[in-house]
Amino acid sequence: MDIKFYLLSKKPRRSSRSSVKEKNVHTVAKKVESFHSCPLGYFDAIPIELRFSIFQFLTIEDLSILTIVSKTMRNLIEGYRVTRFSGPHCMSYRDLHLRLSLEQQTEMLSKYHKLGLLVKRSTCLYATKDRLKIINEFLTRIACSNSDNCKDPSRCIALLCFGKFLHTVIAGWDDSECQRAFDTICQHMCITKHVKTVVSSKPGSHGHLEGVVRQFFRWIFLDQCTTIPDKAFWISRILKPWPIVFQARLLFIIYSGNFTSGEIQWHEMSETTPVDTEHSSIFFSSISSILQLLHLHSTEWTSDEIISIIDEMTSTPEDWLVENIAGLLLACGECLATKLLASKAINGKYVELASIIASLCLVCVKHNHSINQVMTMMDCIIAVIENPREKLVFLNRILDTFKELVLDTHEFTDSDDANDNEFFFHVSALTEFTRKLAHLAYKHILPH
Ligand SMILES: [Zn+2]
Repeated sequence: MDIKFYLLSKKPRRSSRSSVKEKNVHTVAKKVESFHSCPLGYFDAIPIELRFSIFQFLTIEDLSILTIVSKTMRNLIEGYRVTRFSGPHCMSYRDLHLRLSLEQQTEMLSKYHKLGLLVKRSTCLYATKDRLKIINEFLTRIACSNSDNCKDPSRCIALLCFGKFLHTVIAGWDDSECQRAFDTICQHMCITKHVKTVVSSKPGSHGHLEGVVRQFFRWIFLDQCTTIPDKAFWISRILKPWPIVFQARLLFIIYSGNFTSGEIQWHEMSETTPVDTEHSSIFFSSISSILQLLHLHSTEWTSDEIISIIDEMTSTPEDWLVENIAGLLLACGECLATKLLASKAINGKYVELASIIASLCLVCVKHNHSINQVMTMMDCIIAVIENPREKLVFLNRILDTFKELVLDTHEFTDSDDANDNEFFFHVSALTEFTRKLAHLAYKHILPH
């Protein structure tokens, strides 16, 4: 856009008298000369309202580029952003809380990304403290609790848009600045108090608050991460202030699979098992991904800490069904699962270990996975058990567990078809496991 176009209105009035004309020409020349020394040149000749009117025709990207032209221009655009922004650039904070189509949501997120870019550029010379103040003001403006328009905070995308905005503004900040941003935002929304309440109370006793905590962390800090190290950084900020027991609780609140009812399903893992692969993915994929990420990509966690978190999680609020523990371990991958199982072996928990191994075989058979990964885990477990007699105890215990499982399901086979399937799966799991053992035993005489 040619800004000179808007200067036409500043032409001096015509006059018929030549002396006046000359004088005017002289004055204009002087004026033009004086504009050269103005920070914005000719643009300074225009009244502020008109300058803001010009800005209305620019895109947010153009405005953000203009902010890095000069300090004066940046101040002018900051003034515009703060005082006149909502209308022409459609940054209506009310729309955020409406029920939007997927397309509208994408458009809204893109808009807030651009807005983040504008704020990032226009505040690049500010102190972190002042930038955080601007971020918090922004959060206040869009928070669901401050909008009459928000009918269902669990479904509106205001916090998601804020997350997009935040990640754009703080992109490239160092870790200590990001930590400050995290602390300031949590403090601003009193979230630490809420976390303390939910992790120290009986699971599910503050169902609504658990949902608020989940969405706050997911939408603002985690779901907008574009890289794995970024996500590892933010989840560590969220969990690290708390002891392991609370970390496990918080991690399940944030990443438990089934949240369709808007509440955490605390007892699901102790009462039901997934019926198929898709269901299994709902149960375990999010929680296993975040555990893997902590294990493989964050330097702030030791393997023992992660194992403790898994142990704590799988016994809260009551012990998970062993089949679900096996499902989670398989989803976590061989490396993490082996470490957890080896730690149980070192501590002599053979009964629990045998039960998990039998369930790992069962899950593999049910979901058509190869049982080979279970056999690899077995190798590592056998290797860490030092006493040969205990190795034998452990192996016998596995086969006894299979026997108990098969007999248990057999007792109920007449009652319904579902148990019929269970019986089949248990027998298949035992068969597969035994087949592998037989192959290992006779490996030297069998074809490769
Ligand atoms: Zn809302």
